[in-house]
Amino acid sequence: MKTIGLIGGMSWESSALYYQLINQKIKSLLGGHHSAKCILYSLDFSVIAHLQHQGEWNQLSDILIEAAVNLENAGADFIALCTNTMHKLAPDIQSNISVPFFHISTATAKVLVDNQINTAALLGTKFTMEQNFLKDELEKESLATIIIPDENQRNDIHRIIYDELVKGEIRNESRLRYIEIMDQLIESGAQGIILGCTEIGMLVKSTDVPYTIFDTTTIHAEACALMALENETLDWLNK
Ligand code: GLU
Repeated sequence: MKTIGLIGGMSWESSALYYQLINQKIKSLLGGHHSAKCILYSLDFSVIAHLQHQGEWNQLSDILIEAAVNLENAGADFIALCTNTMHKLAPDIQSNISVPFFHISTATAKVLVDNQINTAALLGTKFTMEQNFLKDELEKESLATIIIPDENQRNDIHRIIYDELVKGEIRNESRLRYIEIMDQLIESGAQGIILGCTEIGMLVKSTDVPYTIFDTTTIHAEACALMALENETLDWLNK
Protein backbone atom coordinates (compact mmCIF):
# COMPACT_ATOMS: atom_id res chain seq x y z
CA MET A 1 0.00 0.00 0.00
CA LYS A 2 1.27 3.48 -0.84
CA THR A 3 1.58 6.19 1.80
CA ILE A 4 -0.75 9.14 1.17
CA GLY A 5 0.56 12.64 1.95
CA LEU A 6 -2.29 14.98 2.87
CA ILE A 7 -1.95 18.77 3.02
CA GLY A 8 -4.78 19.72 5.34
CA GLY A 9 -6.06 22.14 7.92
CA MET A 10 -8.02 24.13 5.32
CA SER A 11 -10.09 23.63 7.29
CA TRP A 12 -9.33 20.91 9.85
CA GLU A 13 -13.07 20.15 9.81
CA SER A 14 -12.80 18.81 6.28
CA SER A 15 -9.36 17.24 6.80
CA ALA A 16 -10.93 15.11 9.54
CA LEU A 17 -13.48 13.95 6.95
CA TYR A 18 -10.70 13.06 4.51
CA TYR A 19 -8.98 10.96 7.19
CA GLN A 20 -12.21 9.14 8.03
CA LEU A 21 -13.29 8.61 4.40
CA ILE A 22 -9.86 7.34 3.31
CA ASN A 23 -9.72 4.83 6.15
CA GLN A 24 -13.30 3.70 5.58
CA LYS A 25 -12.56 3.10 1.90
CA ILE A 26 -9.38 1.11 2.64
CA LYS A 27 -11.29 -0.94 5.20
CA SER A 28 -14.15 -1.64 2.78
CA LEU A 29 -11.69 -2.73 0.06
CA LEU A 30 -9.25 -4.78 2.14
CA GLY A 31 -11.34 -5.75 5.18
CA GLY A 32 -9.90 -7.15 8.39
CA HIS A 33 -7.80 -4.72 10.39
CA HIS A 34 -6.62 -2.75 7.38
CA SER A 35 -6.33 1.02 7.51
CA ALA A 36 -4.66 3.70 5.41
CA LYS A 37 -0.99 4.58 5.51
CA CYS A 38 -1.02 8.36 5.50
CA ILE A 39 0.74 11.46 6.77
CA LEU A 40 -1.24 14.62 7.46
CA TYR A 41 0.49 18.02 7.35
CA SER A 42 -2.10 20.30 8.90
CA LEU A 43 -1.77 24.08 8.57
CA ASP A 44 -3.18 26.92 10.68
CA PHE A 45 -6.22 28.04 8.67
CA SER A 46 -6.27 31.49 10.25
CA VAL A 47 -2.99 32.31 8.48
CA ILE A 48 -4.22 30.78 5.21
CA ALA A 49 -7.61 32.56 5.16
CA HIS A 50 -5.97 35.90 5.97
CA LEU A 51 -3.42 35.60 3.15
CA GLN A 52 -6.12 34.44 0.68
CA HIS A 53 -8.23 37.52 1.33
CA GLN A 54 -5.15 39.78 1.09
CA GLY A 55 -4.34 38.23 -2.30
CA GLU A 56 -0.94 37.05 -1.03
CA TRP A 57 -0.80 33.99 -3.27
CA ASN A 58 3.01 33.98 -3.48
CA GLN A 59 3.27 33.55 0.28
CA LEU A 60 0.58 30.88 0.18
CA SER A 61 2.50 29.10 -2.54
CA ASP A 62 5.63 29.00 -0.35
CA ILE A 63 3.59 27.56 2.54
CA LEU A 64 2.03 24.81 0.42
CA ILE A 65 5.33 23.92 -1.27
CA GLU A 66 6.99 23.59 2.14
CA ALA A 67 4.18 21.30 3.32
CA ALA A 68 4.38 19.14 0.19
CA VAL A 69 8.18 18.84 0.32
CA ASN A 70 8.00 17.88 3.99
CA LEU A 71 5.44 15.20 3.18
CA GLU A 72 7.61 13.84 0.38
CA ASN A 73 10.68 13.79 2.66
CA ALA A 74 8.62 12.03 5.34
CA GLY A 75 7.86 9.20 2.91
CA ALA A 76 4.62 10.11 1.14
CA ASP A 77 4.28 8.29 -2.20
CA PHE A 78 1.86 10.87 -3.56
CA ILE A 79 0.38 14.15 -2.36
CA ALA A 80 -3.25 15.29 -2.11
CA LEU A 81 -4.44 18.77 -1.13
CA CYS A 82 -7.59 18.68 1.04
CA THR A 83 -9.18 21.88 -0.30
CA ASN A 84 -10.47 23.01 -3.69
CA THR A 85 -9.50 26.68 -3.32
CA MET A 86 -5.84 26.04 -2.76
CA HIS A 87 -5.69 24.04 -5.99
CA LYS A 88 -5.11 27.47 -7.50
CA LEU A 89 -1.52 26.70 -6.47
CA ALA A 90 -1.47 23.10 -7.69
CA PRO A 91 1.03 23.84 -10.52
CA ASP A 92 3.48 25.35 -7.97
CA ILE A 93 3.25 22.25 -5.77
CA GLN A 94 3.55 19.88 -8.71
CA SER A 95 6.71 21.51 -9.98
CA ASN A 96 8.44 21.34 -6.59
CA ILE A 97 7.97 17.66 -5.71
CA SER A 98 9.05 14.49 -7.43
CA VAL A 99 6.17 12.28 -6.27
CA PRO A 100 2.78 12.57 -8.05
CA PHE A 101 0.26 15.23 -7.06
CA PHE A 102 -3.28 13.85 -7.17
CA HIS A 103 -5.46 16.79 -8.30
CA ILE A 104 -9.02 17.04 -6.94
CA SER A 105 -10.33 17.76 -10.45
CA THR A 106 -8.92 14.48 -11.84
CA ALA A 107 -11.00 12.50 -9.36
CA THR A 108 -14.09 14.72 -9.78
CA ALA A 109 -14.00 14.82 -13.59
CA LYS A 110 -13.92 11.03 -13.73
CA VAL A 111 -17.13 10.85 -11.71
CA LEU A 112 -18.79 13.44 -14.00
CA VAL A 113 -17.84 11.31 -17.00
CA ASP A 114 -19.05 8.11 -15.31
CA ASN A 115 -22.41 9.81 -14.69
CA GLN A 116 -22.62 11.14 -18.28
CA ILE A 117 -22.93 14.72 -17.07
CA ASN A 118 -22.84 17.38 -19.81
CA THR A 119 -23.55 20.40 -17.61
CA ALA A 120 -22.82 20.76 -13.91
CA ALA A 121 -22.90 23.70 -11.50
CA LEU A 122 -19.89 24.46 -9.30
CA LEU A 123 -20.31 25.72 -5.73
CA GLY A 124 -17.26 26.79 -3.73
CA THR A 125 -15.46 29.83 -2.41
CA LYS A 126 -15.52 32.94 -4.58
CA PHE A 127 -11.89 32.14 -5.50
CA THR A 128 -13.00 28.76 -6.86
CA MET A 129 -16.20 29.96 -8.55
CA GLU A 130 -14.86 33.19 -10.07
CA GLN A 131 -11.39 32.12 -11.18
CA ASN A 132 -10.64 29.44 -13.72
CA PHE A 133 -8.10 27.18 -11.99
CA LEU A 134 -10.63 24.46 -11.08
CA LYS A 135 -13.38 25.12 -13.61
CA ASP A 136 -10.98 24.85 -16.56
CA GLU A 137 -9.45 21.61 -15.26
CA LEU A 138 -12.90 20.11 -14.74
CA GLU A 139 -14.08 21.14 -18.21
CA LYS A 140 -10.89 19.88 -19.85
CA GLU A 141 -10.95 16.52 -18.10
CA SER A 142 -14.72 15.82 -18.22
CA LEU A 143 -15.73 17.74 -21.37
CA ALA A 144 -18.76 18.95 -19.37
CA THR A 145 -19.82 22.60 -19.25
CA ILE A 146 -19.37 24.02 -15.76
CA ILE A 147 -21.74 26.82 -14.75
CA ILE A 148 -21.49 29.00 -11.64
CA PRO A 149 -24.06 30.81 -9.44
CA ASP A 150 -24.84 34.52 -9.94
CA GLU A 151 -23.06 37.20 -7.91
CA ASN A 152 -25.60 37.39 -5.10
CA GLN A 153 -25.59 33.64 -4.75
CA ARG A 154 -21.77 33.50 -4.84
CA ASN A 155 -21.57 36.06 -2.03
CA ASP A 156 -23.88 34.00 0.19
CA ILE A 157 -22.09 30.72 -0.59
CA HIS A 158 -18.68 32.28 0.19
CA ARG A 159 -19.87 33.98 3.39
CA ILE A 160 -21.40 30.80 4.74
CA ILE A 161 -18.17 28.85 4.04
CA TYR A 162 -15.87 31.29 5.85
CA ASP A 163 -18.21 32.48 8.63
CA GLU A 164 -19.71 29.10 9.48
CA LEU A 165 -18.57 25.90 7.78
CA VAL A 166 -14.80 26.17 8.29
CA LYS A 167 -15.61 26.77 11.98
CA GLY A 168 -17.79 23.66 12.09
CA GLU A 169 -21.01 25.67 12.42
CA ILE A 170 -23.96 24.03 10.67
CA ARG A 171 -27.10 26.22 10.48
CA ASN A 172 -30.45 25.25 9.05
CA GLU A 173 -31.06 28.66 7.44
CA SER A 174 -27.76 28.30 5.57
CA ARG A 175 -28.72 24.80 4.40
CA LEU A 176 -32.02 26.21 3.08
CA ARG A 177 -30.19 29.03 1.26
CA TYR A 178 -27.81 26.52 -0.36
CA ILE A 179 -30.72 24.32 -1.45
CA GLU A 180 -32.53 27.36 -2.89
CA ILE A 181 -29.41 28.24 -4.94
CA MET A 182 -28.88 24.63 -6.03
CA ASP A 183 -32.56 24.34 -7.13
CA GLN A 184 -32.14 27.48 -9.27
CA LEU A 185 -28.97 26.10 -10.88
CA ILE A 186 -30.78 22.88 -11.75
CA GLU A 187 -33.60 24.96 -13.27
CA SER A 188 -30.98 26.79 -15.36
CA GLY A 189 -29.85 23.53 -16.91
CA ALA A 190 -27.34 21.89 -14.55
CA GLN A 191 -27.74 18.10 -14.38
CA GLY A 192 -25.93 17.92 -11.07
CA ILE A 193 -24.19 20.09 -8.45
CA ILE A 194 -20.47 19.90 -7.68
CA LEU A 195 -19.74 20.69 -4.03
CA GLY A 196 -16.41 22.28 -4.90
CA CYS A 197 -15.51 23.21 -1.35
CA THR A 198 -14.51 20.50 1.07
CA GLU A 199 -16.83 21.69 3.88
CA ILE A 200 -20.14 22.00 1.96
CA GLY A 201 -20.89 18.30 2.37
CA MET A 202 -21.24 18.93 6.11
CA LEU A 203 -24.18 21.25 5.33
CA VAL A 204 -26.03 19.64 2.41
CA LYS A 205 -26.40 15.92 1.79
CA SER A 206 -27.57 14.09 -1.30
CA THR A 207 -30.69 13.08 0.67
CA ASP A 208 -31.67 16.78 0.95
CA VAL A 209 -32.35 17.15 -2.80
CA PRO A 210 -33.82 15.07 -5.65
CA TYR A 211 -30.87 15.64 -8.05
CA THR A 212 -27.27 14.42 -8.03
CA ILE A 213 -24.66 16.03 -5.82
CA PHE A 214 -20.96 15.49 -6.48
CA ASP A 215 -19.14 16.03 -3.18
CA THR A 216 -15.46 16.66 -3.97
CA THR A 217 -14.42 15.66 -0.43
CA THR A 218 -15.87 12.16 -0.72
CA ILE A 219 -14.81 11.77 -4.34
CA HIS A 220 -11.21 12.90 -3.74
CA ALA A 221 -10.74 11.04 -0.46
CA GLU A 222 -12.06 7.75 -1.85
CA ALA A 223 -9.97 8.15 -4.98
CA CYS A 224 -6.89 8.71 -2.77
CA ALA A 225 -7.61 5.39 -1.07
CA LEU A 226 -7.80 3.71 -4.48
CA MET A 227 -4.62 5.43 -5.57
CA ALA A 228 -2.89 4.01 -2.49
CA LEU A 229 -3.85 0.52 -3.66
CA GLU A 230 -2.04 0.46 -6.96
CA ASN A 231 -3.88 -2.35 -8.72
CA GLU A 232 -7.32 -1.16 -7.73
CA THR A 233 -6.39 2.31 -8.94
CA LEU A 234 -5.43 1.02 -12.34
CA ASP A 235 -8.74 -0.81 -12.57
CA TRP A 236 -10.55 2.33 -11.43
CA LEU A 237 -8.83 4.59 -13.93
CA ASN A 238 -9.39 2.16 -16.79
CA LYS A 239 -13.02 1.39 -15.99
N1 GLU B 1 -12.01 23.93 2.11
C1 GLU B 1 -12.52 24.93 1.24
C2 GLU B 1 -12.33 24.55 -0.22
O1 GLU B 1 -12.42 23.38 -0.53
C3 GLU B 1 -12.33 26.36 1.60
C4 GLU B 1 -11.23 26.67 2.53
C5 GLU B 1 -10.01 27.12 1.79
O2 GLU B 1 -10.01 28.26 1.36
O3 GLU B 1 -9.08 26.35 1.60
O4 GLU B 1 -12.16 25.36 -1.07
